[in-house]
Amino acid sequence: MEVLPGIHQLKGFLWSNVFLLEDGDKLALVDAGLHPRSHKLLDYIRSMGRDPAELDTIILTHGHPDHTSGLRPLQRSTNIKVLVHSGDVKSESGGRSWIHYPSQPMAREWDVPFLQKLYFDEVLHDGQVLPIMDGLEVLHTPGHTPGSVVLYLRKRGVLFTGDSLLSNGKVFRRPIPFPGTNFKDYRRSIERISRLDFEVALPGHGQPMLTGGQAMVKKMLNNYFWAFSWGRVLGKLSPRS
Ligand SMILES: [Zn+2]
Ligand SMILES: [Zn+2]
Repeated sequence: MEVLPGIHQLKGFLWSNVFLLEDGDKLALVDAGLHPRSHKLLDYIRSMGRDPAELDTIILTHGHPDHTSGLRPLQRSTNIKVLVHSGDVKSESGGRSWIHYPSQPMAREWDVPFLQKLYFDEVLHDGQVLPIMDGLEVLHTPGHTPGSVVLYLRKRGVLFTGDSLLSNGKVFRRPIPFPGTNFKDYRRSIERISRLDFEVALPGHGQPMLTGGQAMVKKMLNNYFWAFSWGRVLGKLSPRS
């Protein structure tokens, strides 16, 4: 479904959102979804009258498997370039680095979600501007995971929030804590997001918020007292806090 001109929200990837961006003769993706249903994605691209070979780049908002597990079939069938922040990758001496999430129990070269060793092509940097849709800015917003990023189309006032902010289309909510969640970093990241001028928020889970995005983040921060108290309790249980 085209939620904004040139930006499609793809459904059918279990509970995670995948966004497809049309940029001239190239296509880009934000996240890959949980289930490797790449045929659905490729069928959608064909239904637009486009060719899956136009898939050029996929940007991962973070390394959690509900956003990365659809990657491998795409890598097998297209020349897509995979970008992820270095906070969510792991290296082995002498080996190739792979996409990793905190407390991942194992990583192997198989197609088992949650336990895959998935490879990437380039790491993302804070402040980097990707040449997609007239400038897609990368902001490192750690907290949910060490390598979480949000992606900002400044000129259009559109923010892809990954799991840093979830939404039902009307209000934001925080993701539940996972191993590796750091509440201090998270709050700093949300404060940073609140300073961005944006109307539209496209979250990793839930529904797009099509208006009032920045105002809603500020409102969330103003009501953060209870959340932060609860966060401190949970933070004591977090290995990184
Ligand atoms: Zn996540
Ligand atoms: Zn998620």
